[in-house]
Amino acid sequence: MLMATEDRVREYVAYSPGTFRGELAAELRLPAPTVVSAVRRLLSAGELVETEVTRARASAGRRPRVLRVSGPATLVGLVSWDGDGLRATCVDVEGAVVATRALAAPRPHAGIDGLRAAVDQVIALARGQGQFLLRTVVMSVPGPCLSGRGVPREPALGAPTFPVTVPGDLAAILSERCGLPVAVENDANVCALGELYRGGLRRHADAVSLIVTGHGFGSALIVNGALARGAQGYAGELPHLQVDREGPLCACGGRGCLLYSVRERVVASAQAAYAEPITFGDLPRLAATGDMGAARMLQDVGRALGGPLAHLCTFLDPEVLLVGGTLGPSAEHVVAGIREVLAVQAPPAVAGNVAVVRSTLGPAAELLGAIELGRLRARR
Ligand SMILES: [Zn+2]
Repeated sequence: MLMATEDRVREYVAYSPGTFRGELAAELRLPAPTVVSAVRRLLSAGELVETEVTRARASAGRRPRVLRVSGPATLVGLVSWDGDGLRATCVDVEGAVVATRALAAPRPHAGIDGLRAAVDQVIALARGQGQFLLRTVVMSVPGPCLSGRGVPREPALGAPTFPVTVPGDLAAILSERCGLPVAVENDANVCALGELYRGGLRRHADAVSLIVTGHGFGSALIVNGALARGAQGYAGELPHLQVDREGPLCACGGRGCLLYSVRERVVASAQAAYAEPITFGDLPRLAATGDMGAARMLQDVGRALGGPLAHLCTFLDPEVLLVGGTLGPSAEHVVAGIREVLAVQAPPAVAGNVAVVRSTLGPAAELLGAIELGRLRARR
């Protein structure tokens, strides 16, 4: 549903306190006179307030004035997949964590009841933060998912499934129940939005954003400065590129996907060197302790991803290939493996131009991406 201009201005400012009046028209892609009238009405109704900035940017002349919403500060609720469970986090608009907790919900191969329970719990968490107002809930799903559409495929009986398996307009179903805007978005996409807003993708028009986590990896595409979602939320789903026609069945319904190939092959190769059973998620922890074997395996992850990424870079010709997620400094090993393969498998002009770098935001990218999803609602 289209939002009225005043609603869009109020929403945008709610997620962007410190906005100058003059910035709004460009940010909202609206004619300046329309925005000026809307701001004037919101100020006189007491819904927005305008204050002088404390440090004048100019040495002379009038001090600039910035807008914010009156009343409590904005809180964004994030439901994220944390290992085998769920986590609720409330963040302010600067991305600072106000409250966070693991959720009591069982691992939802999430039917609608599990997801509703998760939303209820993030709302309960926000209710304890009196000075804030929860304005939106974001579900950051480790699988293809699109607000307004849901998952791109219903699960087949007996096959592995994505964590969220609710068909239809999941965001609308959840939003109706809780009375707040709910966004449902793939986790790699949420992180890419965070990187675009405040991280390594800021001011880049074309980029590939990769996250490597304890589960495996995810990816997102930035084209012409915006997240490319595709027709049903599948754009940039590098994990589901087929690399073995006769490989194991995957949650996407395909076989031999890159996700499983990378994760399982790496763990199988590494296992012989360790007395205890290890998982993919153990590798960054081991690498961080100086374990050369784990570092080498992470470099192999980068090499395994490098071939498909070389093709992707040849198609997209990105300026940046950013590696984020939960690896921390160990991501450097993955970056090294990707660079090595890109240098020989992508055309020199492409490989020589793309900067393969590690995210400086790390897991915080997901929090900032959740805020950016709130801002994007106003921009539409
Ligand atoms: Zn797949």
